[in-house]
Amino acid sequence: MRRPLVAGNWKMHGSRAENARLIEALVEASDTATCEVVVCPPCVYLWEIGRQLKDSTIALGSQDVCAEAQGAFTGEVSAAMLKDVGCSYALVGHSERRALYREDDALVARKFVAAQAGGLTPILCVGETLEERERGVTEEVVGRQLDAVLALAGVAAFGRALIAYEPVWAIGTGKTATPEQAQDVHRFIRDRIVARDATIGGAVRLLYGGSVKAANAAELFAKPDVDGGLVGGASLKADEFVRICAAAA
Ligand code: PEP
Repeated sequence: MRRPLVAGNWKMHGSRAENARLIEALVEASDTATCEVVVCPPCVYLWEIGRQLKDSTIALGSQDVCAEAQGAFTGEVSAAMLKDVGCSYALVGHSERRALYREDDALVARKFVAAQAGGLTPILCVGETLEERERGVTEEVVGRQLDAVLALAGVAAFGRALIAYEPVWAIGTGKTATPEQAQDVHRFIRDRIVARDATIGGAVRLLYGGSVKAANAAELFAKPDVDGGLVGGASLKADEFVRICAAAA
């Protein structure tokens, strides 16, 4: 049985005051949550939010991580530093990082390895653009993104990682993949890991991301290979996020 997990990616939103209100509401609701909950605020707020989450069951994640362990990399933050301020998880390869900051499959794979080396659990984001879906190459694209990490990290590394399928055309657009579309790609991802190691493939948790809302979460999470969600916009509204977590649990 895979324990469901819902992660909130706050992207570049929030302030100390807004964060405190949001966290207070989430902590209050977390007593009843039976799924694992992770929040990924902007890096600069991690330490403070980590302290606010100290006695709660909510885990802390970063939105990105440097591929290097330390050194002359101005502006970057290492996995060990993120761990030091209370993070347990790190998103790697979010589509905004891939598209806006030119992160290619090789760099994403290095970030995945660096996250684990620094003691974090990576949440590897994969997904196709609308143009790629319309060309019928979704599996080719997602397979290539996965294989880059499998080649560098090895299949055993997926025993300590999650994968988030996030079709780029569904992120922040209000267009959600149908539960069947999500399930098809999730099945494809799981089969790809199972082909290398059946136990790890069967156990790895696969999250769906892309305009998840309270109104569509339950039907997405009901699919057999959808083990929870990676939620952007809706994770900034406490009520909405709590309802999404309840749908996963
Ligand atoms: C995301 O940022 O990963 C995401 C899925 O965003 P949204 O839920 O807003 O589509």
